[in-house]
This record gives sequence, C-alpha cells and structure tokens, in this order.
Amino acid sequence: MKITTYGANLIQLTRYPLLFPANCYLVREDDGFTLIDTGLPGSTAAILAAAQAHGAPIRRIVLTHAHMDHVASLDALHAALPAAEVLIGAREARFLAGDRSLDADELQGKPRGSYQTCKTKPTRTLAPGDRIGSLEAIAAPGHTPGHMAFLDLRDHALIAGDAFQTRGGVAVAGTIKPLFPFPAMGTWHAPTALASARALRARKPTLLAIGHGVVLAAPLSAIDQAIAEAAHHLKEDVAHAA
Ligand SMILES: [Zn+2]
Repeated sequence: MKITTYGANLIQLTRYPLLFPANCYLVREDDGFTLIDTGLPGSTAAILAAAQAHGAPIRRIVLTHAHMDHVASLDALHAALPAAEVLIGAREARFLAGDRSLDADELQGKPRGSYQTCKTKPTRTLAPGDRIGSLEAIAAPGHTPGHMAFLDLRDHALIAGDAFQTRGGVAVAGTIKPLFPFPAMGTWHAPTALASARALRARKPTLLAIGHGVVLAAPLSAIDQAIAEAAHHLKEDVAHAA
C-alpha cells in the first residue's frame, strides 16, 4: 500500500499503484478518521495499519459508490470495526444491497462496471448536503446512478470517487482514456456524469482526490479541460459547454 499525505487532513492509500491503482482516503477529524472507500479485496489490514500509523482510529466508513474496487473490503472492515458508522448515498445503497434495478423515472442507461453486493448494511444513508464531520456530501451521479462526492469544507479538498479520474489523463467519468479506460467502461450515463462534473467544478475544489490516479492540487484548469473534452465527445454545442 502506497501512502501519500496531503496537508493536515488527507491521506491517500493506493493499492497496486503501478498496475491498477485504486485509492481510498483517510480524512482526519477531531475524533479520528473518516475512511472514504475501502479499496480492492484484501485491503483491510493495510487500511487499519495506515490509520494506526497515523495515530487515530477509523470512526466512519463512507462509500462513494458500490463498485467492487471501492467496496470490496467493506465487510472485512466492518467486522474489524463494528462500532464505525457506515455511510453511503441513499440511491447507491440499493446497489450495495444487490438491487441493480433502475426506477421508471431514472435515465435508462445500463448500470455498468463491477457492482459488488455487501452484507454490511449502512448505519445511515446520505442525502445531498448531509455533513459527515467536515465533509459535505454532494450528489455526483453519472458513473453510477447514486454516486456521491465529498467536499472537505475546511480546505475544499474534493474526494470525488470515480466522478473524475487522473490515471491515464484527467477525465470526467465516461471519457475513455486509452491508458486507463476502466472507469469510462464502468460508467452508467456520460451526460449525467458531465453535469455532475460541472456541479463539482462550481464548488471550486483546491485538491482533486479520485479513485484512480494521483491527487491533483489546484485542479480547476485541468477540470475545465476535462469538462471541455467530455462535452466535445458528447457533441454538446460549444456555447453551452463554455
Ligand atoms: Zn467505479
């Protein structure tokens, strides 16, 4: 596990940094850590060791979405940390429980990617605007129907899950980057992902921390470029995209 610290509050944990990098994050709070995502299967011991090495317990487990490379270690972590809260967006909780159906009023793209059903039930489901310590939950659908991102209101670090990627090039979910196409291949609805990217950009993040790739500091111009590229691929007219 590669461990990289960004400022006082954010620690990135990366499995397989060279092959198939999958990140999860520890966010420091007064009472301990909020863990965002749980990584690939078998990440539990390394996540627990990282929290211990940084001197605080994990109090909460927050999930951006229910794909395998984000939730695979949830059940094992929940067993190791039975008192920790487990939080996920209300819509995404259905995927976590194994229900992959879409509602009649949802856009009817095919939910793609490797959803994983977990035994662990959320202790609370999240709505947009909910606070988890210093984090604000922001709806960021598109990669999955119920995907959420989390903005640290102390410093505007954005933990964006797979709403963006930086591995293989900075991209909005749904834009294929040939060097790392997997997040795009697993994306449910690219136009929705683009709308979410714009909404996240409007919050003016100072750091972009994503599921796959390195953390970007001062990411706004890279995000703008990624949004323009996604809009171009979706053939939006340029006036609207600007
Ligand atoms: Zn994903």
